[in-house]
Amino acid sequence: MASAAQSILKEKFGYDEFRPGQDAAIKRVLAHENTLVIMPTGGGKSLCYQVPALLQSGLTVVVSPLIALMKDQVDALNENAIPATYINSTVAYPEAQHRLEMAARGEVKLLYVAPERLEMPDFQQDLASLQIDLLAVDEAHCISQWGHDFRPSYLQLQTIAAALPSHPTVIALTATATTRVALDIGQRLNIPEAGMINTGFARPNLSFQVVKDQDKDAFLLDYLKLNQTQSGIVYCATRKEVERLYLLLERQGIAVTKYHAGLSEQERTANQEDFLFDRKPVMVATNAFGMGIDKSNVRFVIHAQVPGDLESYYQEAGRAGRDGLPSEAILLFAPADLQIRRFFIDQSEGDDAYKQNEYRKLQVMNQYANTGDCLQQFILQYFGQASQPCGQCSNCRDDREAVDVTLDAQKALSCVVRMHGRYGKGLIADVLAGSKSRRLTQLGLEQLSTYGLLSSWRKKDISGFIDFLTADGYLMPQGGQYPTLGLTELGAQVLRGEAQVMRKQAVKARQSLPVDD
Ligand code: ADP
Ligand code: ZN
Repeated sequence: MASAAQSILKEKFGYDEFRPGQDAAIKRVLAHENTLVIMPTGGGKSLCYQVPALLQSGLTVVVSPLIALMKDQVDALNENAIPATYINSTVAYPEAQHRLEMAARGEVKLLYVAPERLEMPDFQQDLASLQIDLLAVDEAHCISQWGHDFRPSYLQLQTIAAALPSHPTVIALTATATTRVALDIGQRLNIPEAGMINTGFARPNLSFQVVKDQDKDAFLLDYLKLNQTQSGIVYCATRKEVERLYLLLERQGIAVTKYHAGLSEQERTANQEDFLFDRKPVMVATNAFGMGIDKSNVRFVIHAQVPGDLESYYQEAGRAGRDGLPSEAILLFAPADLQIRRFFIDQSEGDDAYKQNEYRKLQVMNQYANTGDCLQQFILQYFGQASQPCGQCSNCRDDREAVDVTLDAQKALSCVVRMHGRYGKGLIADVLAGSKSRRLTQLGLEQLSTYGLLSSWRKKDISGFIDFLTADGYLMPQGGQYPTLGLTELGAQVLRGEAQVMRKQAVKARQSLPVDD
């Protein structure tokens, strides 16, 4: 016999079966057990609170930072004859009061609210007077300072959830949480470890690529021309870079639009719609674009500059392929772009501990760009999930022969040993290059036996090689802003001649997506 939840799934949403994790989440919620749902983008998180909302007598309050999306979400529910409404800054005061009254009378089952509202004492009081059975916290990673999108207003949830007289069950949902962030969410929202439902983060239809040591503009143009019929997003780190790339692409006849916080609201809305309706299939944007954008046929997400951390990267890249079809996530990497990120960190408000943490996350991003291992596996490992090589990322598919670079690795690693793990990448590269810089002389480093061992290399290739050795676990960075490098056990094995180091090089643009007509 079908359960009540299954009947709702069929009748209200038109689906025959639950997706992995949905069933378990709904069961817990209906048993009034606090729950954290971790599912990849497109996994079906919304149903985990929408189905229980329809099975309980009271109200479900959904906290979501996706203000731009609330109206659409609510409209979609209303179309399925599910009574829902929302309150955010776009709703005038009398109308908001009216909506609250509807909620109080039981005329809506779901009430979506923006987190900023939670900071208003009046609104907290209004909530306290409602019979709330379920509190759903969407994008729950926003509650953690260890996450990549911390929002102070989310912290209110901690007290509000505990103080509401109707003692609602809490369900938190996110597509991106490291173990540390997941535990933090759990602690703040009173969700036990047993209440964490994690279907994994893998997005098997995404193939990841890192493009290095190439002219980024030329790669981008080639790629867009070769894959012209497809829709995609090009992310930049700054508004200025958005404007530059937008002009570059537009002059080349590509149907492109742009989005960043410096544009008027009117222009942003118009451009977003041009993109959503495929009038302009390519969007060049800062990370201001995309939160909650539900365009299913995004075939590629290209990062023209490196993002600040792997969580943001995975979330942004994950906007490709929500329909489950093969899609690409490409990072155009130039080491110099890390400087922009360091600048952002320096300028950011947080305290020193916060900044050091941000620097550490940036190092991981740098390692991602330099690893020779499977990219998907690298990402999943970062989120604490074990997996097999994906077989389709640029590293897995790199069919050039891996070259034995053990001897070069031994030179670089022995240099690190001579420098007693006291220095960072820049100085190590300088010593290996045999640089004449004053700093080296002052430190007496030109006396080292490893001085100039790689003097035939370009400095940037030495740096890249050290990044590669770090990414693949031969070296270990210590510290945040100016990390020093030390040898790992694996590195020590290489020095003793007990392990080999193999390495391949970079990727070219190719037509890789199917051609539509
Ligand atoms: P998320 O919030 O995890 O990114 P959504 O909740 O927006 O994902 O769901 C993604 C898509 O999958 C939606 O179009 C939704 O209707 C669909 N979906 C969700 N659950 C199911 C299901 N059990 N069967 C079929 N489709 C589903
Ligand atoms: Zn792979």
